[in-house]
Amino acid sequence: MNHQQVFINSTPADLRKRQIHHCPRCGARLSEQRLKKHQRQICPACRYTHYLNPSPGVTVIVPSKERQVLIAKRAEEIDFGGKWCLPGGYVEYEESFIDAAFREVGEETGLAIRLAGIVNVVSNLCNGDHHTLVVVLLAEAVGAQPVAGDDCTEVKWIDQGQHQDIDYAFEADRRIIDGYFNGHLQMIPIDERFRIKPFPAKN
Ligand SMILES: [Zn+2]
Repeated sequence: MNHQQVFINSTPADLRKRQIHHCPRCGARLSEQRLKKHQRQICPACRYTHYLNPSPGVTVIVPSKERQVLIAKRAEEIDFGGKWCLPGGYVEYEESFIDAAFREVGEETGLAIRLAGIVNVVSNLCNGDHHTLVVVLLAEAVGAQPVAGDDCTEVKWIDQGQHQDIDYAFEADRRIIDGYFNGHLQMIPIDERFRIKPFPAKN
């Protein structure tokens, strides 16, 4: 299978762990109601609804000129610590996924990048607490050598032979890197307005 988009590595999330007790908007105690097919937590005072959604993220394939792929080792204290992954992370509310790609690659590897395109989108149910919807991008490194930062303890370039033996945190990353080395990735071009200098500045 060359193009895989859904990765279910665990039983469904325990939604009770995601529940909250009080309205984040007005502080009233939330009540449970059934809305259409879903059990929702709703605020009786201000009608705030506590939706549970997957978290949006980005990962970035950054190949070297020799077609090696950059991977990062996750710090022990974070989820899936000690395992390897593509650089990436969650999209913050005030940024686009394109901004998030520049920021996360910068924080984790110290590299500036030039984005080339979108190569996949994956649903990744990694464990009961961890359900992400990830935009996978392809980029080109600009300048210097990578240096591990943020939640990573090490970064390195790997070739196809080394890739086979890596202990990846996410099956999705393994499959995406397979796709890169096997020449199966296809690309949607990036919105050129945001390709180099992303998103309008905050006020
Ligand atoms: Zn409320």
